[in-house]
Amino acid sequence: MNGNTGDWQSHRDDDGILWLILDQQNTGTNVLSISVLEQLDSLLDEISQDLPRAIVFRSGKSRGFIAGADVNEFLQVKTTQEALIMIKRGQKLFSRIAALKCPTVAMIEGFCMGGGTELALACDYRVALDDAATRIGLPEVKLGIHPAYGGLVRATTLINPLKSMDLMLTGRGLTARAACAIGLVDSAQPQRQMERAVRQFALTEPRRQRMPFVGKLLSLPGIRHALAEYMKKQVARKAPRQHYPAPYAILDVWATHYGNHKRMMEEEANSVARLIQGDKVRNLIRVFFLQTRLKGLGDKQSFIPRHVHVIGAGTMGGDIAAWCALRGLTVTLQDREAKYLSNAFKRAHQLFGKRLKTTRERNAAIDRLIPDIDGDGVSRADVIIEAIYENVEAKHAIYRDIEARMKPDAVLATNTSSIPLETLTTVLKQPERLVGIHFFNPVAMMPLVEIVAAKSTSEKALQQATAFTQHIGKLPLPVKSSPGFLVNRILMPYLVEAFTLYEEGVAPEAIDKAATDFGMPMGPVELADTVGLDICLSVAQNLAEAYGIKVPPGLNQFVEAKRLGKKSGRGFYQYKNGKALKDKDVDLGDQKLIQNRLVFRFLNEAAACLQEEIVADRDLLDAGIIFGTGFAPFRGGPMNYSLNQGVESILASMSDYQGRFGERFKPAAGWSLLGE
Ligand code: NAD
Repeated sequence: MNGNTGDWQSHRDDDGILWLILDQQNTGTNVLSISVLEQLDSLLDEISQDLPRAIVFRSGKSRGFIAGADVNEFLQVKTTQEALIMIKRGQKLFSRIAALKCPTVAMIEGFCMGGGTELALACDYRVALDDAATRIGLPEVKLGIHPAYGGLVRATTLINPLKSMDLMLTGRGLTARAACAIGLVDSAQPQRQMERAVRQFALTEPRRQRMPFVGKLLSLPGIRHALAEYMKKQVARKAPRQHYPAPYAILDVWATHYGNHKRMMEEEANSVARLIQGDKVRNLIRVFFLQTRLKGLGDKQSFIPRHVHVIGAGTMGGDIAAWCALRGLTVTLQDREAKYLSNAFKRAHQLFGKRLKTTRERNAAIDRLIPDIDGDGVSRADVIIEAIYENVEAKHAIYRDIEARMKPDAVLATNTSSIPLETLTTVLKQPERLVGIHFFNPVAMMPLVEIVAAKSTSEKALQQATAFTQHIGKLPLPVKSSPGFLVNRILMPYLVEAFTLYEEGVAPEAIDKAATDFGMPMGPVELADTVGLDICLSVAQNLAEAYGIKVPPGLNQFVEAKRLGKKSGRGFYQYKNGKALKDKDVDLGDQKLIQNRLVFRFLNEAAACLQEEIVADRDLLDAGIIFGTGFAPFRGGPMNYSLNQGVESILASMSDYQGRFGERFKPAAGWSLLGE
């Protein structure tokens, strides 16, 4: 059988192997849409008439096997019944593949995610390409669901449940070697050996991968239930059940139904059909698309930076330099004297130790990070990032010194949080070169970077800064140069409201609980302690004038008393081994009211930013706020949340709060834009 049926191509070779090649039309990436699955079903009808010696599934794309199911189709699902029909169709098809009477092999080159991995798991053998691009995973949990085409059942039947659960609960992708080490794939091969290895599996049918002994032991009913309960406690630390039910559903399906294949398949389907209802999955899919949009900004190929020069090796500069070296760039790091560099290098070594697996990789990263007191790197760098302390004269002196020495095409960037770019450019001969590349603290943890455009900034500088951000694996958000840009500006009224509540006598624990119950990853009081109260005070003072924020006087007193937060061991909370000591018995007060006060300040500032076009549109606003502040991702961003809740009802409550608590709750003009 040789043919071309829409998205699938097939040909039978001289050895009798049937190669089924997915090359989805009109797209660079294969996804398992309903149509792709239906075509495969018809192909299987034909194939079963004249069974080949073996079947190999592979991708026709230059990179990537299958990226997963078509998430757009999830959004069309209206009822549990519709969801069940869709899921069961997929399950049936994959069970059909698993039951084929000839050997089946998945040839995995590049990314293989979600439904792609489920298809591979339905095959008898899996061979993965051992290269930097290959990642194999079951990331459905990130969208609020879990594998439903038999993947949960097959993963937990094939590999040690500690490993399969880790795969499904974190959603992370494994390299070919890591996947091979846990038995998710049978073999990891370099490119030149791939086809040979695949043929060998297809033609010789070696013994199939089986659950290792320890895995069988851990799957015994008593141990399994205890393990699931333990894992639920672990999950609860990061993802509370009320907001993120999917990881708990994974553990429940496994703990309750493992060992009964048919029943487990049914429950796998029922569970996802239940999860897919409501706004959460829709919102998480929105977040996925927003992230894809940020990842797609700028033209990565148009600017390929190799050398970054960072000036200022403090909290930010040191960590920016380390991050860039981690991501493969050569970095020269400059400060006033050698003594200021040592801390930065210490932290960099810790980062490399944590993120890089082999000594060779760690040593290579260390070699890429070069101390440069004299600033020799300026004349060689493709990107220069100034991250010295927040002082206009000092920054001016740096720019005067380096402008003439920079390569003509190099990007000149500042990491300033609060000095208007327009003030900084006054000493430059070519002001159009200066762009803001605003990282957040801690650099290694925060995915977002604001790309700040002053009126004078050239399009080229913005493009280069965006491409650079993509190269170092961060999400660029283009923002207008205006006090606080987007993220700090949005956060400040929310933090100030938390301080105000504190000064009214509300316990920090009660304030933080109201925020985390809403879905914030950390409450505002603990967040302020973590950022540092001195930094909060300085940002608040900087923004106070521009936005009429009243800085609570108590904050100043904390800073004067050197109660700076986590870094000094005491802020609002006392810290022990880096953990806030919280009182479990505090009076929680009116939690709904506390929550509304915090959230309304957040939403209102977001609406103001929309009006002032701090970012280009509503989606970028939501994206920036989710990735910059951690705003409850399952709510899809503040604008999306407001629309879901109903703008009118939010405005009615805010007007009420304006009367009760003051003008800060006066609805911003930008709310009218939300209806458009
Ligand atoms: P920091 O005080 O920790 O570090 C500043 C470093 O710059 C020090 O090591 C200092 O020795 C060095 N420096 C000062 N003058 C210098 C000069 N002339 N030449 C070379 N090095 C010099 O400051 P930071 O917190 O890292 O902030 C740096 C910049 O990043 C500021 O513009 C700040 O607004 C911005 N920023 C800070 C944060 C944050 O959370 N700290 C977050 C985002 C952006």
